[in-house]
Amino acid sequence: MVCPGRKRALLKIASVLFGSAGLAMAASVAPQAAVAQEPSVGVPPKPPVTWIASPHFDDRPPGTGIDTILLHDTETPGISLARTIASHFANPRSGVSAHFIIGKGGEIVQCVPEEKRAFHAGPSLFRGRERVNDFSLGIELVNAQTGRDPFTAPQYASLGSLVRHLAARFAIPRDRIVGHHDVTNRPGVKRDPAINFDWDRFLASLGPDPAAEARRQVVENREARRLRPM
Ligand SMILES: [Zn+2]
Repeated sequence: MVCPGRKRALLKIASVLFGSAGLAMAASVAPQAAVAQEPSVGVPPKPPVTWIASPHFDDRPPGTGIDTILLHDTETPGISLARTIASHFANPRSGVSAHFIIGKGGEIVQCVPEEKRAFHAGPSLFRGRERVNDFSLGIELVNAQTGRDPFTAPQYASLGSLVRHLAARFAIPRDRIVGHHDVTNRPGVKRDPAINFDWDRFLASLGPDPAAEARRQVVENREARRLRPM
């Protein structure tokens, strides 16, 4: 619950910062903004985003946390700007959205608050759980999906900084950062991100995997105990 005075202040701030799109976004999400998860110590800062709000979102099922990041590409030949895709997500008739879109120039547009459920995965199944939208964040990379259209260096850079932030903020393990083609329950229908997306380059940009580091530490400690002279 947000008191009217606080809500008015939020609307004013959103209006100044983001114009009418921010105003619409704040008006629709202000009640939740007060309970949004606060980034904790050690979380890399969120990179700058431009808000172009989509109406296509709703609440996640009660008690459902965010534990997966799903990468997509837009399958849009000839388009380079994230805002072009965002205007489609903002269209009341499109029925689709994602939390973030990253354009060829590296600009990041946010369309749906992280805490809300965006409509990006469609019918989907990941490790025995259906409806991946329920528990994931969706990131769209602007790309033609031909397998030859390059994902650009600015896209990799922005994706890396965004995912470093999100993975730390929501404690998402490295093995739950996956592509749409990994979770579709219609094999062969969804192929994104395209085959020329460089997973090694992207994952390397995230730095050391905290979970893998913790496992390595356990093994090393066990080894050290084993070798300790009695
Ligand atoms: Zn997709």
